[in-house]
Amino acid sequence: MRVPFNPLARLHADQRGALAGALLEVLDSGWFVLGPQVERFERDFAAYCGLAHCVGVGNGSDALALALRALGVGRGDRVATVANAGFYASTAILACGAVPLYADVEPGRLLLSTQALDRVLAQRPRALVATHLYGQLCAIEEIAERCRAAGVALVEDCAQAHGARRGGRFAGAFGDVGCYSFYPTKNLGALGDGGALVTNDAALAARLRALRQYGWSGKYQVDFAGGCNSRLDELQAAVLNAELPLLDGRNARRRAIGARYLAELRHPAITPIARGGEDDVFHLFVLRCARRDELRAHLAAHGVQSEIHYPIPDHRQPGLTLAEAAPALPDSERACAEVLSLPCHPALTDAEIDHVVAACNAFAG
Ligand SMILES: *Cc1c(COP(=O)(O)O)cnc(C)c1O
Repeated sequence: MRVPFNPLARLHADQRGALAGALLEVLDSGWFVLGPQVERFERDFAAYCGLAHCVGVGNGSDALALALRALGVGRGDRVATVANAGFYASTAILACGAVPLYADVEPGRLLLSTQALDRVLAQRPRALVATHLYGQLCAIEEIAERCRAAGVALVEDCAQAHGARRGGRFAGAFGDVGCYSFYPTKNLGALGDGGALVTNDAALAARLRALRQYGWSGKYQVDFAGGCNSRLDELQAAVLNAELPLLDGRNARRRAIGARYLAELRHPAITPIARGGEDDVFHLFVLRCARRDELRAHLAAHGVQSEIHYPIPDHRQPGLTLAEAAPALPDSERACAEVLSLPCHPALTDAEIDHVVAACNAFAG
């Protein structure tokens, strides 16, 4: 049996007719960028998240960069974040001319450590990007409280946490603004690139609307500095409108898959990250293994595709040059050497889960 990591065509197979209809509707409308589909999605996704405003943009990385810019981050400012989340926040921070300040993660769930938070806040960053990694909400209430006390703007990276909630509050509802990606593999995915920001701050939403379109306050009038072209197009918004009602059901399936892995993986060398609850939407099922690369090869030999999220911590990326020496981030670095993600998508079958579990448990570790 072959178990692919993310078979995207299969994921959309049950929606084939609905998606084709949605795409044809856009074609026939003759309206392709920032039109009625985007307006509907912005209204519905804001309502889904329990927030007042949603601004559609071109992708999740742009959402992060626009959030920082709209919050006043500029050249030379420092922005704190974690180093084990795929360099997306770093890309956005660098795009603003700002300098990333890395905080270590706690070793259990690999999310921003609140101890490390104190150390980075003492270095007076302008903003902090808190990442809800793998689908797990981080300690966002405490992070928000400390950022507020320190006068530091808080951006939530929700690109892996669509639908994650705690106490009825959704990812993106705790900080100043939440940033989403709708890249095809995300829990809510388009058929191409897409992104959005959610916030309760009307003035911030207005700045974001201007910045996503050249800094325009209205047609051809540039009232805001730092604009770019990062718009959500009608085709992607039409796909998202068709898929948003399916999100909670798909997240429930992801949780059920995660629960099966957690219950059935039994191998002394394999330690899944402890998971579960309403605040976890299992974007990725991640385990740790000291002999990760051997385990990955063993799984591949049994037809099981796995991935590494992420192999290189941001501060060790060759493409990054920092003026100051890279900090020691032992828990992030160990995690990057040990993490492995198993197939975990809503179209995964029970037989596939059986096969993945059996292959893991048969690892000659
Ligand atoms: C996917 C992702 C992003 C970036 O989204 P794109 O749409 O690919 O730019 C940002 N942060 C995290 C944590 C992600 O997983």
